[in-house]
Amino acid sequence: KKNVLIIGAGGVAQVVAHKCAQHNDVLGALYIASRTKSKCDDIIASVHEKGAMKVAGTFEAHALDAKDTSAVADLIRKTGSQIVINVGTPYVNMSVLDACIETGVAYMDTAIHEDPAKICETPPWYANYEWKKREACAKAGVTAILGVGFDPGVVNAYARLAEDQYLDTIESIDIVDINAGSHGKYFATNFDPEINFREFTGTVYSWQGGEWRENRMFEVGKEWDLPVVGKQKAYMSGHDEVHSLANRYPKADVRFWMGFGDHYINVFTVLKSIGLLSEQPVTTAEGLEVVPLKVVKACLPDPASLAPGYTGKTCIGDLVKGTKDGKPAEVFIYNVADHKEAFNEVGSQGISYTAGVPPVAAAILIANGTWDVKKMANVEDLDPKPFISLLNRIGLPTRVKDAEGDRAVDFG
Ligand code: NDP
Repeated sequence: KKNVLIIGAGGVAQVVAHKCAQHNDVLGALYIASRTKSKCDDIIASVHEKGAMKVAGTFEAHALDAKDTSAVADLIRKTGSQIVINVGTPYVNMSVLDACIETGVAYMDTAIHEDPAKICETPPWYANYEWKKREACAKAGVTAILGVGFDPGVVNAYARLAEDQYLDTIESIDIVDINAGSHGKYFATNFDPEINFREFTGTVYSWQGGEWRENRMFEVGKEWDLPVVGKQKAYMSGHDEVHSLANRYPKADVRFWMGFGDHYINVFTVLKSIGLLSEQPVTTAEGLEVVPLKVVKACLPDPASLAPGYTGKTCIGDLVKGTKDGKPAEVFIYNVADHKEAFNEVGSQGISYTAGVPPVAAAILIANGTWDVKKMANVEDLDPKPFISLLNRIGLPTRVKDAEGDRAVDFG
């Protein structure tokens, strides 16, 4: 058993907390810490309301400034935590990772580190922060699993599964993320608006023809026809996993596509065009200095509040093309999640659910030794089979569609 410290108390943390509770027989005592302690208390209350704790045990809330490495290290020591699931804002990744290296405990996150002052980093993004700590992790024997949400995360495992299981050579990896659900609001983002908008205001990087290509957001669109959600338009977007997969598959084209409706694009374009998505402070006539992006965030619905009325499904997967036995072949490996089912189970919408279940699977695999690799790894560096098998059992089943049909992926 290994004690777990969850950092952050947002939409994803809510799912992580419920799932850890459901598996606290294999994990140990549970702790959740965030900037606002009351949000941690609320999450723990919702865990008890659902009766989610599998066995009687500790689940404790703490206030924490995760940007303060020594405060994080102190809390790790105080709670005897051996695994840290960092699902706080991506601005805190490096300070939390440093605390894990200092205390010699396992680390994981679900998004690449971001510097709030920078709108877009140069590729490969992981090389700017995370990979600089590779040696330190190996030296301290620290297991650090980067980006183990759904995308990045499960989609990286899907690429590796295509390599291991279905194809001999890989020529392209297209990751497609479609949310065909409806939250019923005029406009809302599914996770932190600040992070969400930052994702789409920067340069869209893709790895094609053995080099980094640059596009603008919404410049390259394509209609996809996917299982369950049907025909959907998605746009090439910048995304974390392109920056690690391009490293493992340098000969393949690696692209990420995110589905958007025309309404989202209209609202986004207006906000951006009039400067409301800028993180550069402006001063009002009254002498008040404000950051437009922060104001927009304060006005939009809290992503967690979307959960109760959310309906519909998500489909996220990898279309991987290459060759098998010398002939062209392709495979689509995917998951379909349902917003309402997620809400009924853990009180969250489907996007938080797909992001929050995978790190708990990773924590279980670290606790039982399967993924306790004692070094830094992106998800595609690890054996995908135990991860996908476990996800099948804990709420995120994987399916595969290829020339042989559309079926569940099951390793028995
Ligand atoms: P939220 O904005 O809902 O939650 C972020 C949490 O971090 C909040 O509780 C916030 O506290 C806390 N926080 C911010 N600053 C600090 C600090 N200095 N110290 C301690 N806590 C702090 O985000 P989500 O739950 O939607 O997302 C969490 C993470 O998951 C993000 O990194 C996001 O990018 C990632 N993600 C990954 C996905 C994937 O599939 N890979 C998909 C979706 C999200 P407060 O409440 O006080 O503001």
